[in-house]
Amino acid sequence: MTTVLHWFRQDLRLSDNPALYQAAQVGDVVPVYIHSPSSEHRPLGAASRVWLHHSLESLDQSLDGKLNCYVGDPVSILKEIVQRLKPEAVYWNRCYGSGQSEIDADIQSLLKRLGVASMCRHETMLWEPEITLKSDGTPYKVFTPFYKNCLANTPPRACYEVPKKSTYIRDAKCRSLEELDLLPKHNWWKDIIKRWEVGEASAHKKLTRFIQSGLNGYKDKRHYPSKANTSKLSMHLHFGEISPHQVWWATESCSSVDAEYFRSEIGWREFSVMLLHYFPSLPRENFNKKYDVFPWRDNPEWLRAWQQGRTGIPIVDAGMRELWQTGSMHNRVRMIVASFLVKNLNIDWRQGEAWFWDCLFDADLANNSASWQWVAGCGVDAAPYFRVFNPVSQGQKFDGEGVYTKTYVPELEKLPSKYLFSPWEAPQDVLEKAGIVLGETYPKPLVDLKLSRLQALENYASLEA
Ligand code: FAD
Repeated sequence: MTTVLHWFRQDLRLSDNPALYQAAQVGDVVPVYIHSPSSEHRPLGAASRVWLHHSLESLDQSLDGKLNCYVGDPVSILKEIVQRLKPEAVYWNRCYGSGQSEIDADIQSLLKRLGVASMCRHETMLWEPEITLKSDGTPYKVFTPFYKNCLANTPPRACYEVPKKSTYIRDAKCRSLEELDLLPKHNWWKDIIKRWEVGEASAHKKLTRFIQSGLNGYKDKRHYPSKANTSKLSMHLHFGEISPHQVWWATESCSSVDAEYFRSEIGWREFSVMLLHYFPSLPRENFNKKYDVFPWRDNPEWLRAWQQGRTGIPIVDAGMRELWQTGSMHNRVRMIVASFLVKNLNIDWRQGEAWFWDCLFDADLANNSASWQWVAGCGVDAAPYFRVFNPVSQGQKFDGEGVYTKTYVPELEKLPSKYLFSPWEAPQDVLEKAGIVLGETYPKPLVDLKLSRLQALENYASLEA
């Protein structure tokens, strides 16, 4: 029987995996995963390493314990395996982001030199970046026409089945999952990961549950962090435990406005990937160069307070603690905490992006950098500079009863809703009754929201001058 090799990357699943499906039709498959910290353009964050470990564990189970792990540079590792196991071809699905196209090209020329066929499938995204260009050949910089153009011209492809009758081969020289050394030495992650179910089967369970009980009302309810109306699929999508096609087609039969909104969020993911593909400096540099002279404040103490959820602004602290305690954060709250860091504390968006990168299970170079630049106003199709989220009115509007905020900031539990989002405005007797001493049991606000907003507007306006 012919032997072929499938190289898993951000496609940690068996179903709807074009390269694996094709490989399994040709012969017995050597399933390979290569952890290559030295060739990562941006080392994985701590939370991502934890998720990846568990995702590989789950994939290994699906492959009857035959996942072959290795550590090192992909070109050298693949060269060694190919020379030893002599597969007829190497299959993989394309990845996106800094340096990925170069890696693909290096592997392709290696395999050519070795006389082995290479099969790099370009079907990972709903719309490959190359087919999304405007008629003048340049990338879209505004989401809506990008999305409309994609919808009008290219229906997403159909999904692939799990390969049938496939035989997976174990390489005696592979490393164990533990040898990838992905899990941090300190045990902080143990309680957090227990909150989540990792892997392909869990992703599908979550999608089904979401369609049954979360999708209805998504358009409006997705803004409320205490409601279970978002899919929480982002980490599964990031690691490829589920494909965007599977998500797309599962909701395609729900012809409601909610389903349309949900699919357009999947469209935002495609937009971010397209941006990172054409603007690879997105995670490091302002898309709008005007912002290169922005007078950011260097204040490690404020940054630390923001990271630890000690800013004295309840909804911001709730969000940052949610991130720390769960490895995730609701989208509405991501926007609020990011706006607060960039616009009220005047701290460079890259510092916030780096913290999210380290703490989020769904940390994604494209989505994270595009979203941070969007909030900061320097990105593509960005929120205008004068849009400063008011964390008090945002809290009142989207967490009126305080269910979310009180979950993560329990020291404010007894504060009446009227003051929950601005405890500094509460009369002394109200604070006393709620058992709160500002500056002791809960921090005083780091900054005055009104003054810091005005300062932000002045700073931004100076760029326009
Ligand atoms: P749902 O509402 O169920 O949406 C379904 C899917 O659509 C998501 O899983 C995600 O893949 C995609 N999606 C939703 N919103 C967006 C968006 N605004 N941009 C791009 N794709 C989107 N998302 C990440 O996946 N990784 C990140 O590192 C990341 N960093 C962010 C940083 C900031 C400052 C902000 C404001 C947003 C960031 N997002 C990021 C986007 C968004 O917050 C998450 O995708 C979303 O909260 C995930 O929850 P969900 O799966 O329940 O989303």
